[in-house]
Amino acid sequence: MLTDLTIAQAAEGLRKHDFTAVELTNAHVEAIGALNGRLNAYITVTADQATEAAAQADRNLAAGDAPTLTGIPLGIKDLFCTKGVRTTAASRILGDFTPPYESTVTANLLANGAVFVGKTNLDEFAMGSTNLTSAFGAVENPWRRNGDDTPLVPGGSSGGSAAAVAAHLAMGATGTDTGGSIRQPAAYCGIVGLKPTYGRCSRWGTIAFASSLDQAGPMTRTVEDAAIMLAAMAGHDAKDSTSANIAVPDYRAACGRSLKGLRVGVPAEYRAPGMSAELQAVWDRGVAMLREAGCEIVDVSLPHTKYGLATYYIIAPAEASSNLARYDGVRFGDRREGASLDELYERTRHDGFGEEVRRRILVGTYVLSAGYYDAYYLRAQKIRTLIQRDFTQAFEAADVLLTPTAPTAAFGHNEKPEDPVQMYLNDVFTVPASMAGQPALSVPVSLDSTGLPLGLQLIGRHFDEETLIAVGSALEKAADFTARPTFRAGAAA
Ligand code: GLN
Repeated sequence: MLTDLTIAQAAEGLRKHDFTAVELTNAHVEAIGALNGRLNAYITVTADQATEAAAQADRNLAAGDAPTLTGIPLGIKDLFCTKGVRTTAASRILGDFTPPYESTVTANLLANGAVFVGKTNLDEFAMGSTNLTSAFGAVENPWRRNGDDTPLVPGGSSGGSAAAVAAHLAMGATGTDTGGSIRQPAAYCGIVGLKPTYGRCSRWGTIAFASSLDQAGPMTRTVEDAAIMLAAMAGHDAKDSTSANIAVPDYRAACGRSLKGLRVGVPAEYRAPGMSAELQAVWDRGVAMLREAGCEIVDVSLPHTKYGLATYYIIAPAEASSNLARYDGVRFGDRREGASLDELYERTRHDGFGEEVRRRILVGTYVLSAGYYDAYYLRAQKIRTLIQRDFTQAFEAADVLLTPTAPTAAFGHNEKPEDPVQMYLNDVFTVPASMAGQPALSVPVSLDSTGLPLGLQLIGRHFDEETLIAVGSALEKAADFTARPTFRAGAAA
């Protein structure tokens, strides 16, 4: 089936004229038609534009003028502004905002020939780990526990992208990761998710959550596909002063590279008390696989890991409260009228933002306020520096780190912890790399005893995505993760 192909396979098939880009796109659009009613992975499906773009791709392929992603159907997280296509951030406050411009990352993908089939669901403004906070409804994970029909969360915030790729409703999708939003949903849905180094991909035209942490990256079914997509997304952009002016290497060439002598660090602090024996066993297996592949395993220490969550949940809301101040109902988006300007702001922002976003704005405003700035925000910034220093030191002893991606497998929609702080604990393994700007990759490694995927995370040196790809492809090969979810194109509908 066309929807079963990887990006690498499809790109080859298109060039050999085994099938056309229109056929490939239509197969995905049909699959979305059959499954999106259940999964709710897409907020907006752009079938007509996709077919048109695919027809153009076929003409380009015939003319021999076809960059790598020509004719490849992708999902785009609905946090990337797309010209002429409604962009929601999964919030009510944006109303029917339709950007008159294209984000740099999506423009890069289009320039590389990609076909966009739709905008994927997410937690509102990318705040969350479950995709339950979307104003457009929850996303269902295409996986089920063995013999159990409980709907499960896909993880978040890029839950729609993860579910779409896992269910073969796109060959790949963009995600954004501020504290784990590419890696954790990738792990929950049994796919590959790569958060590049901060600055590798331009943030221009991506709706901001926490600007010093936000980073776009690919979500795919194989490491090679992630390498292909990243090469198309990355690069310097004069419109984002934090984007790095560093050449984009041939990431794909790193797949299958020899790992002889490479040092893999296992951070002691990630052996969190209460970690399930099952997760520990998967981690140990990952270590064994890499040793087998020629790596040297070393113990490393990241002593400030224990402060990661507390500092992230100060810095991210602080930046969010400032970034989200622009949604005031005056310039664009939905508006609630009021007797005074203040009332207009209050009613617009009360009705327009969901509970989790309001919580973050309140926390962020509090930690930035005159009396508390030093006690919270400034201290968090200092600790962030210590977390960064931990990684610098660890990377003297190791070339890459191996950890679990998330503390558990996916859980039920109705099993979400009531206490928001309990929920934040979910990000314990992903947040430190975000705070330090390191690139990190989640690879699906095995199924747990209930039949749900578990992922392992590789963390690399700044701008060394190639080592992540090299090690990730070795892990992928050794793990041979071939299981597929209950709900996917061509299977149960
Ligand atoms: N789960 C984290 C949060 O809620 C991370 C979100 C993200 O990376 N966008 O903030």
